[in-house]
Amino acid sequence: MSEVSSPIRAVKGMNDVLPGEIARWHRVEKAFHETSQRYGYREVRTPIVEPTNLFVRSIGEATDIVSKEMYTFEDKGEAVSTGSPRGKMLTLRPEGTASAVRAYVEHQIHGQEGVTKWSYLGPMFRRERPARGRYRQFWQAGLECFGDPGPQVDAEMIDMVTGLLTSLGVQDIEVLVNSLGSRETRAKYRVALHDFLLPFEARLSEESKQRLKSNPLRVLDSKSPTDQEICTTAPSILDFLSPEDSAHFEELTSTLAALGTRHRVEPKLVRGLDYYSRTLFEIQGKGGELGAQNALCGGGRYDGLVQELGGPDVPSIGFAMGIERILLALPNEPVAPSVDVVVIPTEASLKIRAATILQAVRRAGCSAEGDLRGQAMKKQLARAEKLGAKFAIIVGPNEEARGVAQLKDMRTRTQEDVAFADLANALKRRLEGGPQ
Ligand code: AMP
Repeated sequence: MSEVSSPIRAVKGMNDVLPGEIARWHRVEKAFHETSQRYGYREVRTPIVEPTNLFVRSIGEATDIVSKEMYTFEDKGEAVSTGSPRGKMLTLRPEGTASAVRAYVEHQIHGQEGVTKWSYLGPMFRRERPARGRYRQFWQAGLECFGDPGPQVDAEMIDMVTGLLTSLGVQDIEVLVNSLGSRETRAKYRVALHDFLLPFEARLSEESKQRLKSNPLRVLDSKSPTDQEICTTAPSILDFLSPEDSAHFEELTSTLAALGTRHRVEPKLVRGLDYYSRTLFEIQGKGGELGAQNALCGGGRYDGLVQELGGPDVPSIGFAMGIERILLALPNEPVAPSVDVVVIPTEASLKIRAATILQAVRRAGCSAEGDLRGQAMKKQLARAEKLGAKFAIIVGPNEEARGVAQLKDMRTRTQEDVAFADLANALKRRLEGGPQ
């Protein structure tokens, strides 16, 4: 007896998006593309796999992403190349900024235009602990603006994404902003924060104890109530900013105020990537099914990164939003499927006729379905109802003999004979509501 093979399941934390859900995805993606275009951003598509070094150098060795979450593998074909142990290592991209900067430098875009505005949308990979709203493959839509030191462009970006979320129907959002200053500011602040936290070390969560050693700023991000309580009296990074950084931040908040973008200054906002400088922001959602993973979007300025990756000194800012999280924050209204017309042959001998009618109406730009398996007419009509068809084209032996089909309006239930050659045009006219 043959053994029944066990089904293969998707990788943990990586999800299928089935056709029933896709309309909601398309809605968010379309809104993102339209909004970015209105603000002057043009889409860029970079590879999903990049040299591991790209992420080590940009996101930072000590970050959670690089130290434990990346999907990295050896590219066997390249094994004999470069000499550097990491030269042959590749990684599934955990985020989009590093790739965008790499492409910007590689194609010397800085030599071609003063300000470059790019958008991207695609899957990202992080080996995080899966939970609602936190996956190992997730989709990000993001923007990068190279060449403008801000802070007006920073405010514009925050305002744009706030407007995008609101227009999509995401309710109850909070915009948090902070400034991380320069690399020197952060170095000084790191020492001060470390010194402040050290006496509390024994009370900190295990994760924060680790972070105290590797990256003390991330202790501020901790979700543990005790850690949070300890951090309430921690020094604020805003007190460490240079006069220039402070002026930049003040101008950011005044521009946001002038644009009417409600926001809250949160000095404990640090986020988990090393490349940020000055402006940092996060938009959190409270509604829908979001739960604990409430960061809908995060971004900030990364003024040193282009240079770090081999380009000139180009100030830049970017953000990314998680599509799955936005979908969780939105009301789950099922989007009914809808098709313009269903073609119904009443007998199996008319399947070829049905195929030619389907071809004609589809070529004319209408969405059309036909069941060419030889099902009974009643079943085919029931399917047309289920598909939300606006019209049905019914062809039986009688009609075939006369060279016509019945064009039936599914709402009014009226029908009339239309010659085969005129069907596509007649259908289009009726769909457009024009003269018949
Ligand atoms: P980041 O790249 O970490 O700044 O994250 C930007 C946004 O991507 C977050 O605000 C989330 O909406 C989304 N995101 C990040 N990590 C995940 C994940 N593991 N699963 C789902 N969405 C994520």
